[in-house]
Amino acid sequence: MAALVERWSNINSHTKNCAGIEKLIEEVKKAFQILDPDEIDTVHFAQSKGLFLKKRAQSPIQIYFGGHLDTVFPIDHPFQKAVYLNENTLQGPGVTDMKGGLVVMLKALECFEKKERASTIGWNIFLNTDEEIGSPESTSFIERCAQKCHLACIFEPALEDGSLVSKRKGSSNYRIISQGKAAHAGRNPKEGKNAIFPLAHFIAQVEGVNASSTEALVNIGIIEGGKAPNIIPDYAECYLNVRSDNIESMQHIENKLKQLAAGYGLSITRLTFRPPKPFDQKTKALFEALKGCADQLEFALTWKESGGVCDGNILASQGVPTIDSLGACGGKIHTEKEYLHLPSLCEKTQLTVLFLSEIASGNIKIKDL
Ligand SMILES: [Zn+2]
Repeated sequence: MAALVERWSNINSHTKNCAGIEKLIEEVKKAFQILDPDEIDTVHFAQSKGLFLKKRAQSPIQIYFGGHLDTVFPIDHPFQKAVYLNENTLQGPGVTDMKGGLVVMLKALECFEKKERASTIGWNIFLNTDEEIGSPESTSFIERCAQKCHLACIFEPALEDGSLVSKRKGSSNYRIISQGKAAHAGRNPKEGKNAIFPLAHFIAQVEGVNASSTEALVNIGIIEGGKAPNIIPDYAECYLNVRSDNIESMQHIENKLKQLAAGYGLSITRLTFRPPKPFDQKTKALFEALKGCADQLEFALTWKESGGVCDGNILASQGVPTIDSLGACGGKIHTEKEYLHLPSLCEKTQLTVLFLSEIASGNIKIKDL
């Protein structure tokens, strides 16, 4: 398992690296053939891809297995290679988020497929390549898949202390554009219209929105515009993120941002949206059932909330009870210190196999969730 994570980590699969993504899809496709799926297809979106597999669509219980192939490290980033720090730790791009998780999913299903009762469970696997930018293209595909499934397992990493994630905040990304008119700042300033000033005013107001809200948080993450100090800029833009565990307050903030943008003559576009993922009764029941399996294996299993989002938010919004941190344990994800705790690969695989076996044998009753 470690060798496979190392191999996949060494293939750069940054969201925008089409060649790398293609290469990884081919590798992963080859590896997942061992599950003898009824269907295995590459899904083509406008700017990203996906890998979709399914087996036993007629079985009474249908489970969604999810993950992503992309990482946050561009092709020219210094962090490109997996290295063993010691016998228990592999450091490398995407080792924990989430190539390690993909290997757990693969091996767990490989073991489970050998069980006699495997036939009671049918599965859909979907691996997207735009998760790290908020799944703008794959969201509707995930929503459609979710409708056929009774529960979902996503192999995103556990938290750094090994806890699973119970409740997640919702998150939306926006782009705000300011159009001006270019002119020389000294020769004909009156002919120009500065695009940065209105955007700067808008940003100052956003800080006020933050101060007045206790339920949502707005972050301006990127600001760009202008070419030189002596040119009146004709273009400026910023990107911002809104996060909250309350969908109404996300909507309220969006209305406020639209109002502010209109006031300054700016255009605002929502690029991605993942609704908050509540820890409702049926999700809690699913976690308790998983904990029962962990107890049998004598693993400690705990969970807590996170402000981070993932595709689990999308599945949960479709009413599917979802465990979305069933992947590997490690830490420092999204940084060049990302590491994977190798023993967790085996532990999480055992846990997943037992969980699926208990569902297949009726010891965990999905219909009761
Ligand atoms: Zn991830």
